[in-house]
Amino acid sequence: MSNPSLLILAGDGIGPEVMTEVKRVIDWFGAKRDLAFDVEEDLVGGAAYDKHGTPLHDDTMARALQVDAVLLGAVGGPKYDALDFSEKPERGLLRLRKEMDLFSNLRPAQCFDALADFSSLKKDIVSGLDIMIVRELTSGVYFGEPRGIFKEGNERVGINTQRYTESEIDRVARSAFELARRRSNKVCSMEKANVMESGVLWREVVQKVHDTDYPDVELTHMYADNGAMQLVRAPKQFDVIVTDNLFGDILSDCAAMLTGSLGMLPSASLGAPNADGRPKALYEPVHGSAPDIAGQGKANPIACILSFAMALRYSFDQGDEAARLEAAVEKVLADGVRTADLLAEEGVTPVSTTGMGDAILAALDASL
Ligand code: NAD
Repeated sequence: MSNPSLLILAGDGIGPEVMTEVKRVIDWFGAKRDLAFDVEEDLVGGAAYDKHGTPLHDDTMARALQVDAVLLGAVGGPKYDALDFSEKPERGLLRLRKEMDLFSNLRPAQCFDALADFSSLKKDIVSGLDIMIVRELTSGVYFGEPRGIFKEGNERVGINTQRYTESEIDRVARSAFELARRRSNKVCSMEKANVMESGVLWREVVQKVHDTDYPDVELTHMYADNGAMQLVRAPKQFDVIVTDNLFGDILSDCAAMLTGSLGMLPSASLGAPNADGRPKALYEPVHGSAPDIAGQGKANPIACILSFAMALRYSFDQGDEAARLEAAVEKVLADGVRTADLLAEEGVTPVSTTGMGDAILAALDASL
């Protein structure tokens, strides 16, 4: 049997710096856990534009559709600000998401105890927090037609359309229920069924998918505005939250900040399962290319490393090894190792990107 395949697209700015540490972690699993991957690397974003005049070459897109999972660093930078919209680095990422049909965006909000002081909320409200927001990513108001700015009488009107089909709701609901079964078996679905017809349909379909195929999972429904309040009032009441593209965009950013630094936040975007049962998948940190610190060895690689942990769990069914990697990160933080973005305490000297990678590899060694 051949090894599972990974396509690495490190991208721009700090992307290649944090990805270097992920590659060391991947090599560690090959050497120490008999878990080898066939790794290919290619360009995306500004780096692809510089070489090919396009932010994602067709050959790269074709490879992304063939491999078992794609790992992406970050794209963008001031150098590309003046480019036409169609050539901007971000278009490369949007093309990947669209052509891989990645409809389910997973954003965990997990609070490592050692970093609980970073949250803007009280420590006891966030300490031990572990929730997952599943955001529908390919439909809803960001894509619905009609859209545009039109003339109406003697003034203009801006229009966007919230539109969801039953099958679009069905598939993202299933992905949330499947996830919940691997976690604490609870799903809270959020919409605005009180004022939006699309919300009424959303609620109806989620309930039907539950009753038909996932009756073992605890399901609740909540209006999204109440959900926002509950997220900052008592976030630990949630396990998996499933919601649409617009509410998910806002609620996942809100939940992310419960846990502190941008340098800590991983994400996964999943599509329909292939013939072998693996979903099409793209894993990437939430942060961007951080041009203000690029090239200085200051970037925190943890978000990108935790994105690889998500790949181990959701693409390769290696939940135990994912937990090993997450525990290594937790240990390093508990030991007080900090990159510059995580400096809350006085008198702590920050480690470099490589230094953080070294500490995580040492913690992995210690886990054997
Ligand atoms: P950003 O996430 O790149 O940076 C925001 C702030 O957080 C900066 O001060 C940065 O130094 C810091 N930061 C981010 N990641 C960090 C890390 N791993 N370690 C330490 N500090 C970190 O967002 P921005 O500044 O708004 O955008 C910069 C560029 O990135 C833009 O071109 C933007 O379009 C692009 N971007 C790309 C993605 C992506 O690739 N998915 C996401 C967001 C922004």
